[in-house]
Amino acid sequence: MEGAVEFDLTINGQCAQAHAGMTVVEAAWRNGVPRVRGVGCLEGVCGSCRILLRHDGEVTVALACQTFVQPGMEVVFLPPQSAPRHHYDIDEFEDSWSIQSRFHEIFPEAARCRHCHGCVVSCPKGIKVEEAIMLAATGRFRDAGEMFFECVMCELCDNACPEQIAPAHVGLFCRRITAHFHLRPPNLIHRLEELRQSKQGRGSHD
Ligand code: SF4
Ligand code: SF4
Repeated sequence: MEGAVEFDLTINGQCAQAHAGMTVVEAAWRNGVPRVRGVGCLEGVCGSCRILLRHDGEVTVALACQTFVQPGMEVVFLPPQSAPRHHYDIDEFEDSWSIQSRFHEIFPEAARCRHCHGCVVSCPKGIKVEEAIMLAATGRFRDAGEMFFECVMCELCDNACPEQIAPAHVGLFCRRITAHFHLRPPNLIHRLEELRQSKQGRGSHD
């Protein structure tokens, strides 16, 4: 921006310059932090630009694309999460009676939430993560899944959880299992059926 007043901040331990109105990710790119393929939606939907922030004596986490720079801010980009620790195949769920017992086998830590609020404080999307974990742990998977609707899988809640519950992955499980046991949207079913019939019609004329 022409004429904008520049100020200093720190990005990944290096001195950087930016001006008001820039997001942290814009400032990072401008100061030579490399762009990584597949990272950088700039709209808070890819969940990749996880940062640790120190400013005015407070330490927080956030998404760099949603955070505006401020003078003196210290920013560290967090590395990607390691591979998920909880494994399951959603197609192995044949009936809904077994969901809760399987859930506790897959996510045994979920029942041990200590209500520290770490996940809630960390979530850049304002999701009531702690409440959603309680719902999942008591078998209310559809309700829990709906609470994770805005989740961008940044996994900042997973980093914050002292019980290693992996709330982001509990949320994903809840959404997957709800979809697995529910009818797909009727307009989509109808359209797929139209396509199937038209394909069949074409096949009979070949
Ligand atoms: S619920 Fe967890 S993974 Fe999802 S947006 Fe919030 S902090 Fe990120
Ligand atoms: S961070 Fe973990 S232990 Fe703390 S409230 Fe959230 S789910 Fe529970």
